[in-house]
Amino acid sequence: MTNKKTNPSFVPSAFMKATLATLVTGSMAAPMLASAAGEVNVYSARKEALIAPALEAFSEKHDVTVNLVTGSADALLRRLQVEGSASPADVFITVDAGRLYRAKDAGVLQPFETPVLDDVVPDHLHDRDGYWYGLSQRARVIFYNPETVDADELSTYEDLADPKWKGRICARSSSNIYNQSLVASMIEADGKEATQEWLNGFVANFARPPFGGDTDQLKAVAAGVCDVTLANTYYFGRLGQSDNAQDREVYEALELFWPNQAEDDRGAHVNVSGIGLTQSATNVDNAKLLVEYLTNHESQEWYAKVNNEYPVVEGVAPPASLQPFGEFKADSMSLSVLGDNNRMAVEMMDTAGWK
Ligand code: FE
Repeated sequence: MTNKKTNPSFVPSAFMKATLATLVTGSMAAPMLASAAGEVNVYSARKEALIAPALEAFSEKHDVTVNLVTGSADALLRRLQVEGSASPADVFITVDAGRLYRAKDAGVLQPFETPVLDDVVPDHLHDRDGYWYGLSQRARVIFYNPETVDADELSTYEDLADPKWKGRICARSSSNIYNQSLVASMIEADGKEATQEWLNGFVANFARPPFGGDTDQLKAVAAGVCDVTLANTYYFGRLGQSDNAQDREVYEALELFWPNQAEDDRGAHVNVSGIGLTQSATNVDNAKLLVEYLTNHESQEWYAKVNNEYPVVEGVAPPASLQPFGEFKADSMSLSVLGDNNRMAVEMMDTAGWK
């Protein structure tokens, strides 16, 4: 891997050769103010289709070349660790506060701020020390089959441990960060002991051993394998916008239930996709410009429209696919807590036998 810090002749093409996916736009004829001016190197755990168009728009607007590397969240984090201070990456984009915490914890990020970021991204949606900022929101909520479940039966995450749900719940594996973060939030809200009890009851209600991703759980509920599941809102929105008629049938067959909405309750569990400045960043100004761009009105609208995600900033409409399900109260717990409690959550899920 090219080391920018020891190789002043570092050029985008050298970086690009090593990338899995590359995106280069913007004018190379732009005046270069410093050796690395005019570019920014992005490692993204988001699939190319879910981030490249926004990066392209940024590139065009600010005349900055964007070099994009995509890969799995774990692989990219490992890569950042191995590359260390020689990493060409300036920013790391990944999903879930639990994973952003891992990157911070691994020492591959550095704290940063910009004149606007703190104002536009609510406090609970960025790292308490400024190591990462949320770019888009998703809620992890209850989906049910209205043919077998009455909405009156549903209330809270906590209630899903009730024996009335025995054999009726589908769930994704406990190795999945989304479930780990939900449990981490419950530890914070309900305490360790109550959460362990909840886990024991919840797992006892599974209709089948955990299998597949969120979309698989939604399909299983529609197919009658189980009555209820937990999934991130964008998976559901995506089914509703799919070109595939069977996907749209799943969307039509299911209902969304916003949990924990009582006046004295905390609201539905939310999480983010987010971005951090790498510890090795050399294109710091462009990196900050990019982060600001991704939280501007235009980008936030794009996240809603294309990714079916909720904006992190105020004043931007929610995704059309989720608008029929109305407004909801979101938990305003600091997402930093999800990282703090992750290890404990994983151990407790294991104790409960959540495979
Ligand atoms: Fe996902």
